[in-house]
This record gives sequence, C-alpha cells and structure tokens, in this order.
Amino acid sequence: METPVNRVVIVGGGTAGWLAACLVAARADPLADPPISVTLIESPDVPTIGVGEGTWPTMRRTLETIGIGEAEFLLACDASFKQGSRFGGWLTGAADDYYLHPFTPPAGGDPRDLIAAWQREPGARPFADAVSAQPAICARDLASRQRAMPDYAGVLNYAYHLDAAKLAALLAKHGRERLGVRHIRDHVVSVERADDGDIAAVRTRDTGAVAGDLFVDCSGLAALLIGDVFDIGFIDRSGELFNDRALAVQVQVAAGSAIASQTNATAHAAGWIWDIGLPTRRGVGCVYSSRHASDDQAATTLEAYLHNAGFADVPTFRRLSFTSGHREKFWERNCLAIGLSAGFLEPLEASAIVMIELSLNTLLDNFPVTREVMPIHAARFNALFRYRWDRVVEFLKLHYILSRRDEPYWRDHRDPATIPARLADLLTVWRYQPPSTADFPAIDEIFPAASYQYVLYGMDFAPPTARAVRAGPPVGLASVEQRSRSLAASLPTNRSYLDALRTASFPAAMEPIS
Ligand SMILES: Cc1cc2nc3c(=O)[nH]c(=O)nc-3n(C[C@H](O)[C@H](O)[C@H](O)COP(=O)(O)OP(=O)(O)OC[C@H]3O[C@@H](n4cnc5c(N)ncnc54)[C@H](O)[C@@H]3O)c2cc1C
Repeated sequence: METPVNRVVIVGGGTAGWLAACLVAARADPLADPPISVTLIESPDVPTIGVGEGTWPTMRRTLETIGIGEAEFLLACDASFKQGSRFGGWLTGAADDYYLHPFTPPAGGDPRDLIAAWQREPGARPFADAVSAQPAICARDLASRQRAMPDYAGVLNYAYHLDAAKLAALLAKHGRERLGVRHIRDHVVSVERADDGDIAAVRTRDTGAVAGDLFVDCSGLAALLIGDVFDIGFIDRSGELFNDRALAVQVQVAAGSAIASQTNATAHAAGWIWDIGLPTRRGVGCVYSSRHASDDQAATTLEAYLHNAGFADVPTFRRLSFTSGHREKFWERNCLAIGLSAGFLEPLEASAIVMIELSLNTLLDNFPVTREVMPIHAARFNALFRYRWDRVVEFLKLHYILSRRDEPYWRDHRDPATIPARLADLLTVWRYQPPSTADFPAIDEIFPAASYQYVLYGMDFAPPTARAVRAGPPVGLASVEQRSRSLAASLPTNRSYLDALRTASFPAAMEPIS
C-alpha cells in the first residue's frame, strides 16, 4: 500500500518559509491526486531575522518560476541590481587594496589560456578587469540590463539587493492570493508524533493541530523540528570560520544618490563590513569574531565606517549572534530543514539564500510522491547538502587565508590547523594550474572554478608561470575592452533605471504608501 505525500506544512514565515511555500505551490504536480496543498504557519510572536539582503543570480529564475514579474519585484522590495562583490582591504588593508568578484564568468574557454593571456599583457591590470566587462560597468554604477529587455534577462549576469522584510511580504501576498497557500498566523507550541516516529501534526496555540505529510522546518535559528523534535546534531564550523556576531543598521540615502552595482565588503581588524545599496537606503553591517573584538570595538568600527561614508546621525545598531555551522542531516523522517534551521556560516558571499533555493529545487526535482520513497530522497538530499556545505566553507575560508593582514584575527585565519584539508590541497595544485572544472566535478557546484579564479588572482595568488601554462590559442582580451566600452555607452545607471521604473509605475499623484 502506498501513502501519498500531498499535504506540505511549512513552519516559519521568513525568507526561507515563503520561498518554500511559493516554490512548492508553483511547481507542485498539477496532476497529483489528491492535489498538493501548502500551509505556512508563522508565529506572530517571533520576528524574522530581518537581514539577508544580498542574493545570487539564481533569484531571477526563482522569481520567474514563482510567477512574479521583475518590475513588480523591484518596486515591491525596494530592490536594486547586484553584479558581484567588491572586497576592500582584504589583502593588506591599504587604501588601494581592493578587487571585484563579478558574477559574469571570465571570457574565453580553457582557463590556462586565459591566465596566460592575462599574464602576457603589458601593465598589471587586475585579473577581473582584464577578463570581464563587468568591473567597468560596476565602477560606473550601471545597471545590468536595459528596460526594454524581457524580464530577468541581462547583458551581464546579475542578482539583487533587496529589503528582506518586503520580500517576505511580497511572497506572502503572492503565495496567498495567486498560488493558494494557506497562511496561519499562530505559534507552534508542540508536535504530535505518529507511532512510527514521523511528525503527524504541529499543534498551534489558537488554531489547534495542523496535520501534514511533509513538514518543512523554516523556523530559523530556533530549529523547532529538526533540532528540538529530532535532535539532529549541529556541526560547528567556527574553528574554520570565526565570525559569530553582527551589528546591522539601515541608513536613508538622499534622493538621486548613486546606487552601487555590487555589495561592498570592507575588511577590518576582526572581520568585515557589508554595505548594500537600495534605492531608498543602505543596509550596512559589521561582522566580527567575538574572540577577536568586543561588541564596543565592533560598534566603534561601524560608526567610523558610517561617518566616513557621510552618515552623521547613525541609528541604533541591531545586534545579532550566530554560531557558524550546519546540521549533520537536513532531512530526517518526514521533516526537511531549510534556511537558518539547516545552518548558517556567515554573511560573506551571500551564500544563505542560494542554499535555500538549491534545497527547494532539489526537493522539487525529486519530490517524494509517496511516504515509502521518502527515505531514498532524504538520504540523497543529505549527502548532496553535506557536500555543498563543505564547499561553501572552503570558498569562504579562501577569502581569509590569502590575506597578508597582520592583526591576530587574520593571522589566526592563516593557521593551517583552521584550513580545510581539501582546500589546502587545492591551493597546492593551483600553484601549477589555475582552478578548473576538474577541481569541482559535481553537477551544479555552488561556487564554480571562475569564482575561485576571481578571488585567488584578486588576492595576488601567484598564477602558474607562463612557462607552466600551455601556449594555447591566443585569448582575445581586447574584445573584453571593446565590450566594456559599448556596454558603458548603452546601459543606464542603477539610479536612473530604478527611478524611471518607479515614475512609470507610480506617477507622482499615486506614489505608493511606504
Ligand atoms: C548578519 C546576517 C547577515 C546575512 N546576510 C545575508 C545575505 O546578504 N545574503 C543571504 O543570502 N543571506 C544572508 N543571511 C542569512 C539570511 O538572513 C537567512 O538565510 C534568511 O533570512 C532566511 O532566514 P529564515 O527564513 O531561515 O529564518 P527567519 O527569518 O528567522 O524566520 C523564522 C520564522 O520562523 C517563525 N517561527 C519561529 N518559531 C516559531 C514558532 N514556535 N511557531 C511558528 N513560527 C515560528 C518566525 O516567526 C519566522 O517567521 C544573513 C544572516 C545574518 C545573521
């Protein structure tokens, strides 16, 4: 006898919960019999984390799949275009120390030919500037697309910066009104277990029991189901990634001010500062290691950054703490943890929301049609995501170990005992050959070889010498320059694009109430 899985219950209404609700509802098999139902339970007492404003390019496909138009999204979420991350002060801390990790991969085919062409260039252009048109576009605060292009298409690869609270609100409205998601605003107080150990229902304070076949734990750091009910262990990664605190603030920007095309990540003595530009505000935060800096030191660092950036009256900072790590397993019996309940490493490279999207795509590509097949999907999911969390740890750690900064925080990061063995091996291999697909053999690698190239050569890692790289066909880096020039001449600034969108949608007389 087969037991169909058709009632999906999601606990939590943050970014993870609402992305889960909308994607499951949008991608559910329309022929499922009985039909798939989606219920989301969100506590009125527990706020969402409220940060998480940088996404990956994957968000374009996610929004398109859910059925939200790009202009609607940009306007509703106060969103802007993100084309990569700019790292300031990570190598030496000097004023001219910066590099860009753009989203568009380098031009050309074989990375060995590309590196050889870059090395042969006269002058010492930064790697990203030589191999991609995107740095020139970012330097001018330009958008990644023109208004007339179809939704979610760009001339360069791009993601978004957004207001996390507004994204959750947009997804909630869309989920309820267009995708038929049942939304319960109530607090989950306990869980009813079936005889076999599955979760049969979650019990809420006012609505009573909500029964389901598959429970998605999106309850954030509380990890109500995967942690409290199933007691799945937490793998602490703070021995590799030291940051465990953040101070966050939002500052209003003047009308007409430039909107950056990238997340600005500026290193400090014991961590780094994120700076994310939206049309109406900037989200700024100081990430740090409590072993290496006190809360007061971090606050002073953030104040100094904001004053330097021209913000005199600084609102009170929000304080957040976390332990870098993830669960041993993410899917246990009929419960799948997605979002902060599954794990969180740190904000660097905005890897959290993309892990939510990847988790949901994996679930929906292999939806457990019956309870009997669920253990097979769970085992496959757990293996894939243990692999992915390890790859994220390695890529984030790479940003720290190539630094030459001399503060204790940065020296501790270079301690070989804190460097994952696979990453240490790769760094040895990359002395003789550049990162390539051979180093990242899985389908859908979260960080491809191109990302490693941008960080390695952005941080002055010695590329293989021209003698060691094969003399392959010449790679035309001149075409990158031509493309930069023609794109720079044709793309609008982020500000003019987003202001025009707003004016077209809301003529002055009908400005939306914010
Ligand atoms: C400092 C910082 C910066 C970050 N920056 C980025 C970034 O730039 N990019 C990125 O990708 N990610 C970032 N993240 C991570 C990102 O914020 C999260 O991955 C994302 O917001 C998803 O959170 P969530 O939905 O899992 O949890 P939350 O937003 O915490 O939501 C939890 C939900 O569970 C509900 N809940 C809790 N208990 C109960 C209960 N008993 N009953 C019912 N409901 C309950 C709450 O009401 C809430 O709705 C950052 C995180 C931090 C800490």
